[in-house]
Amino acid sequence: WHLAQAHPFTLDGNIIKWFGTNTDIDEQKQLQRQKDDFLGIASHELKTPVTSIKAYAQVLGAMLTKEGEHKKAQMVLRMDAQVNRLTNLIGDLLDVTKINSGRLQFNKVWFDFNQVIKETMDDLKHTTQKHTLIEKFTETGKIYSDKDRISQVITNLITNAIKYSPHTDKIIVSTRLEGHEAIVCVQDFGIGIPEDKKDKVFEQFYRVSGNKQHTFPGLGLGLYISSEIVKREGGRMWVNSIEGKGATFCFALPVNDGTN
Ligand code: ADP
Repeated sequence: WHLAQAHPFTLDGNIIKWFGTNTDIDEQKQLQRQKDDFLGIASHELKTPVTSIKAYAQVLGAMLTKEGEHKKAQMVLRMDAQVNRLTNLIGDLLDVTKINSGRLQFNKVWFDFNQVIKETMDDLKHTTQKHTLIEKFTETGKIYSDKDRISQVITNLITNAIKYSPHTDKIIVSTRLEGHEAIVCVQDFGIGIPEDKKDKVFEQFYRVSGNKQHTFPGLGLGLYISSEIVKREGGRMWVNSIEGKGATFCFALPVNDGTN
């Protein structure tokens, strides 16, 4: 705090004026806004050429397959997979700028929670050869939320479970109804999270460091975006973990069962 007036007191000690300008806080806010603006513009600009590369890669892949050039088609397919990774990274950056500026839009509908989780799992099964995704569902009923955003959160948790368990093959996705909440948990048996880092993993750009055997790619945004989405939908997200034994990420969303 900087005082605009050097002597804000009368001789008997009463405050006559208190001009406070919270310059530091203003500056910090402005810097944060500039950072968000830059991220927003940069990720938006990156999106256009990447979309175009993807379209060309798909056309080229189809042409090569038709011409019987299977080896070349395979290479283009790998290119396409990398473009998808890039698209996801750019999408995460865009989501963060939207969240930080309060512009993340939600398109709410009624849907069956278990069904959306199942569909998301089916979409992800082909992304791993090593892991088996096991369903342990019990009836949760319908929720009123943004279906795509919820699917995005589940995708994040499952892709993390796959990524952070390179030496084990089981991932369990379970659902249950508890009171007025539908709960989903994604459990892996991988590297786990140290006790003192459990809350930090939900912060933006935070990544647990110090794994000597492995380097894992990522920006440290997935869990921040996921927990913000869940919070905005009236829910909560948490993690249980024992380092070296695995992690279980869960989130709960309110259900409308007619009583609440
Ligand atoms: P990213 O995976 O891109 O780093 P996230 O926000 O998804 O970003 O995760 C933040 C950090 O939390 C990761 O860098 C990792 O250290 C830790 N983490 C997330 N999921 C798991 C998991 N299933 N097992 C162990 N650590 C995890």
